[in-house]
This record gives sequence, structure tokens and C-alpha cells, in this order.
Amino acid sequence: MTMKYVATTCPYCGTGCSFNLVVQNGKVIGTAPYQRSPVNEGKVCPKGTYAHEFVNREDRLTKPLIKKNGTFEEATWDEAYDLIAEKFKSYKPDECAVLSSARTSNEENYALMKFARGALKTRHIDHCARLCHASTVAGLAASFGSGAMTNSIGDIAESKCLFILGSNTFEQHPLIGRRVAQAKKAGAKIIYADPRYTATGKQADLYMQFVSGSDVAILNGLMQEIIKNGWEDTEFLKNRVKGYEELKATVMKEDYSLENVSKISGIPVEQLKTAAEWIGTAESAAILYSMGITQHTVGVDNVKSIANLQMLTGNLGRPGTGVNALRGQNNVQGACDMGALPVVFTGYQKVIDEAAHKKFADAWGFPDGISEPKNGYEVTVMMDVLTDNPGELKCMYIMGENPMLSDPDLTHVEHAIKNLEFLVVQDIFMTETAELADVVLPAACYAEKDGTQTSTERRVQMWRKAQDPPGEAKDDWKIIAEIAAKMGYADQFAWETAEDIFNEIAAVTPSYHGMNYERLNRPEALHWPCPAEDHPGTPILHGAKFAHPDGFGVMHAIDWKPPAEVPDAEYPYVFTTGRILFHWHTGTMTRRSATLDNEVPTGWIEINPEDAKDLGIKDGETVKASSRRGSIIVPARVTKDIMKGVMFMPFHFKECAANILTNNALDPIAKIPEFKACAVKVEKITEA
Ligand code: SF4
Repeated sequence: MTMKYVATTCPYCGTGCSFNLVVQNGKVIGTAPYQRSPVNEGKVCPKGTYAHEFVNREDRLTKPLIKKNGTFEEATWDEAYDLIAEKFKSYKPDECAVLSSARTSNEENYALMKFARGALKTRHIDHCARLCHASTVAGLAASFGSGAMTNSIGDIAESKCLFILGSNTFEQHPLIGRRVAQAKKAGAKIIYADPRYTATGKQADLYMQFVSGSDVAILNGLMQEIIKNGWEDTEFLKNRVKGYEELKATVMKEDYSLENVSKISGIPVEQLKTAAEWIGTAESAAILYSMGITQHTVGVDNVKSIANLQMLTGNLGRPGTGVNALRGQNNVQGACDMGALPVVFTGYQKVIDEAAHKKFADAWGFPDGISEPKNGYEVTVMMDVLTDNPGELKCMYIMGENPMLSDPDLTHVEHAIKNLEFLVVQDIFMTETAELADVVLPAACYAEKDGTQTSTERRVQMWRKAQDPPGEAKDDWKIIAEIAAKMGYADQFAWETAEDIFNEIAAVTPSYHGMNYERLNRPEALHWPCPAEDHPGTPILHGAKFAHPDGFGVMHAIDWKPPAEVPDAEYPYVFTTGRILFHWHTGTMTRRSATLDNEVPTGWIEINPEDAKDLGIKDGETVKASSRRGSIIVPARVTKDIMKGVMFMPFHFKECAANILTNNALDPIAKIPEFKACAVKVEKITEA
């Protein structure tokens, strides 16, 4: 018997914890603590603890599948590649769309981005960051010149005041929650605002329950109170930012008096006053936020408002401060960094910038050029185009994503995907989306390959191969390179290892220039930007100046707008969605983990006891929940943890898919959908 430990990085949330995979006779059989990671210091949450359980499941995809007469049949790789290459070559560039994946490595996202732009020559590439933090990328880029978490996870513990808004940190990012607990133990004040009294709320010194969709009003109200009391940082405002007078004119309006904000948000005036005082007078104050902020039709406004508050109080560029956007998936930061977006190449180099376009065209050397220097479609727009203008988009290549469960208004998504002429899905399991594909390609999972991923704190960390993939499954990047070779582009994808790809990434990406596997292959790894091989990396952004060319931060005067769909007589409740401790996204992996699935085997809808009484619904009873887009049957959980008038559902469960109900109304800039607020009704199911 042989046994070894292989240190790797967790494939679930964006925290980037490390652990050891325990390998016996060539198979992953467990996990064990890896004490040397500065991120989690040997601790992991339940998802990390059981991250081995899905790896050797019997239902892993092991052979390429081609659909014939509506049924999948096993095929050879050559048969699958020949079909894909022939089909892809038959379409015009703008008829093709590509979805990359925040679950795969940087190298694989880069490979697919290069494949999309160089082999397919399409502008239409995106991935699920569109659904979680597209507003962060756009909002923080406009405010600070860089669309990423400003500080690092470790220095959250040093803060004297933490304002957590739209993030259930203790369940979604438990090992970041640990830093919050450390800060609290050291005397920090913890403010938590959320429509649900979650595990995070239970840690707070001040819990403010509010109506989903009132964030800008709350933030403007807090800023008004801070300015009225003279708690703003005048030196910071004078020396570091632009736009203060315009911001002040907006937030000082009567609309944002604490009395008015209380009416909009439901938060008592006294609580708002306390929050403003704690934030305004703290030696250091940090904001932690997640999708409660971003997943709105005003997602970009919400993010800019958070940036405004931190600039107003001078809480940037120091330990314990910052705008800490907690990214959802393990590599959503990296997938964005790698240019798996319709507007940028790697490192946010704009595709419409002539010099950047030429740089990539020259570096890649495709003899017949690359995609046009024009922005492409976001995934949400792709779905609308597919339904509203059939025939414009004809084929799609999806790597490791499951829009049939993750995207809003699933009936609309199904309609869109069924309008495709040709769909290729590359994944580790037969997902709800893969079932609709023409060709399914079996991929290796995180435990079966080398590579890197970039966590929410911009830390680029290694995956290390612990076992071989099952059957004929292959690394995603190898599959991409082999399809490219079939299409006549072998030279452009002639990588032998993931490290070869990383070296190419570092060469074309200024913020990764100074990185290589030798430097990353240590517990602390490196935070970008790391522009040179002797640069130590950058755990805290915006220390002396912001990333805008003139070095200034930009404040934006923003007025509050209600959500796209608000309750009315027919659909009288606000509906919001979220995640839970034991499951992750569409459950492709966690629901195949026996331990995690035993803990929470199905979904539910949370109803306040007063609402339940009005509706005649008892705890545990099965109810019908409906929005203008569809209905689902789901067990009711009656709890005072949810605000009266608001209903909540986790979105991981296909048998009661919350996204049947959600609204695909989009933020006009980020094109992120409004998962966090729509209108629903809930009915008792009466026996026929
Ligand atoms: Fe994995 Fe996130 Fe849990 Fe850490 S906190 S073990 S990264 S799921």
C-alpha cells in the first residue's frame, strides 16, 4: 500500500484555503490539514473537509459522448474532435459563443479565451462572474481604477470596525468569517446588515435587518450622518479623491435623512445612527460585501456607493480597511484576470484598445488573425439574443458551467439553449446543461491536474495533481488544445504542461509578469499585481495612490432606485436567494458528496411567522411559490430569522430550483441579473 499527501487549494469558495489530499494506492481518499497556508492555517469548513468525496464518484464522465437521435452514445476522442472541428469551422465567428469557467484553473481559462478569440475568432466569451461580481469589476474599476478586493484576508482580523453588507460571510466564506471572529475578539465592532438573521448576524454587535434592494439609500444615509457629525476624513478627501462636492450634494438631500432611509429600508433610525458613528469614528473600518450587493439592477451603483463610503472615511490603503468584495467561486477572480470576459484580454487589457488588440494578435500569431477589436455579448445578453433573435448565435462551447441551474429565469434559459444548433459541454459530471448538449466531453477535476487559481484576495495559488483522471477524462486545457489542433491551430496551442501556459500568461499580463511556478509553489504564493520577478506581490491596493492614471479615486453621486420588480397585490412578497454552508452553487459537486448531501438534502423557502400565519402555512409544509416567470413546489421553513414581507431560498437544488422564480432584469452597465429582489406569491397547497 502506498500513501501520500498532496497539498492543493480548495475547489469551492473564493477564500482559497489549502489542504492536503490524502492519496492511497493512487486514489484520493480523504483530506488532511495543511498547516502552512497563511490563508486558513490548517483549518477548513465542511465543504473543504469533504472535498474528496465527489472525486471518485461512479457517475464521473469518463468518455466523450455524442448525441444521436436524442440519446448520448459513447465516442472516441477523435470522433468527438472531428465533429466539433467540422461544426465550429462551419459557423461565422459571431455565430459562436463561449462560456468559460470560474471553477477551472487560470491556465484553462486562458486557453479557452485564446481559443475563442484566436480559433473561433468570436467576441462572445463570458463566464459566471457575470452572475456574481460583474458589478464589482465595473464599480470598483470606476471608483479606484482596479476592480478587485482591495485588501487581504489576513488583515480583516486587524480591523477595528467591520461592516458586513450583503454577505453571509460565516456560511459562504467560513474561513474569512474566522478573521471576522478574530477581529471581534480583539475588540472590533461588527455591523451586519441583511434581510436574514444568518449565522453571520449572530456574531454581530449591531444587526440591521433591511428590505432587499435599499442598499444605496442606506449607504447615502450613513454618509449624510457621517458628514453631519464631521467624521469624514478631510485630508483623504483633499489629497486622494475627486468628486466629493457632487457626492455631498446628493447624500445631504432630505431623501437620505435617517428618517427617510428608515422608511425605505426598514432599519430603525437609532441603529443607522449607531452604525454611522462606529464606521465614522473607528481607527480602521473595512467593508465586506458579496452578492447581496452585486446581484441587483443597481449592482454597479451599490458597489460605487460602498467605495464612496470608504473614500469618505479614508478607510483605504491600510491594514484593517478597504472594500473587500468576497468573490464566490474558487477562481472567479482568476477567470476575470484571464480575460474570460467579452470586453478584455488578460489583466483587463481592453479588446477595443488598438494597442492591446495588436499585442495579443502578435503574441499569438494566428495566421488568419483574431476576433475583431469589438466588445462581445455577456452571458445574460447571449440568452436574450438566443430567444429574441433566433439564428444570430448558433453554437456554444461551455466549459464547466451549468446555466440550466445557475442563471435567472430558467424557463427562459432552457428556451435559449434549445435554440442553439450545436452545443458542446465539457464537464466532470452530466449536469442539467450537459443533458442538452450535442457533444459532452469528460474533464479532469481539481484533484487530477496541476494549475493555478486566484482567490478573492488576488492570491495566485497552486493546484497539484493527486491522482489520474477517471477513464479517458483529460485536463480542460488539453481538450481545448487538441480541438484547436484539429482546426489547424496546433502551433498556437503547442503547450506540454500547465506551466507552459502560465509562462505565456505571465508574458502577456502586466499584473502577473513577475510570477512563475517556482515563486508560486510555496504556501504564501503571491498577490497580484506582481509586475517583476523581484516584486513581492501586493496584499493591499491603493496605499499611496489609486489605479486610475492620475492616481485619484473617483466618488460618484448616486441616487437610490428601487428594484426592477417590486411587490404588488398579485405578487406581494420580496423574494431573495442565497447560498448555505454545506452546498456550493449548482450542487454539481457538493450534492455528490455523501456527507454534505446528508447534512442538507434539499431546499426550502423561508417565511416569516407573521406571513406564514396570514397564509395559513405551517413549518415543514409543502407550498407553491410563484413569480411572473414560473412556479415551484418547495417545503416551507417558518422562521423569524427572515424579515416579514421577504421570502428566501437557497439556489443549489434542482428539484426546487429557486431560479425558476428569479428575474433576469439586468444592471445596465454590468449586465448582472437581479437575483436578490423580485416579487413572489406563496400559496398553501390544498388537497384536490
Ligand atoms: Fe474551501 Fe471556502 Fe471552505 Fe476554505 S472556506 S475550505 S476555500 S469552501
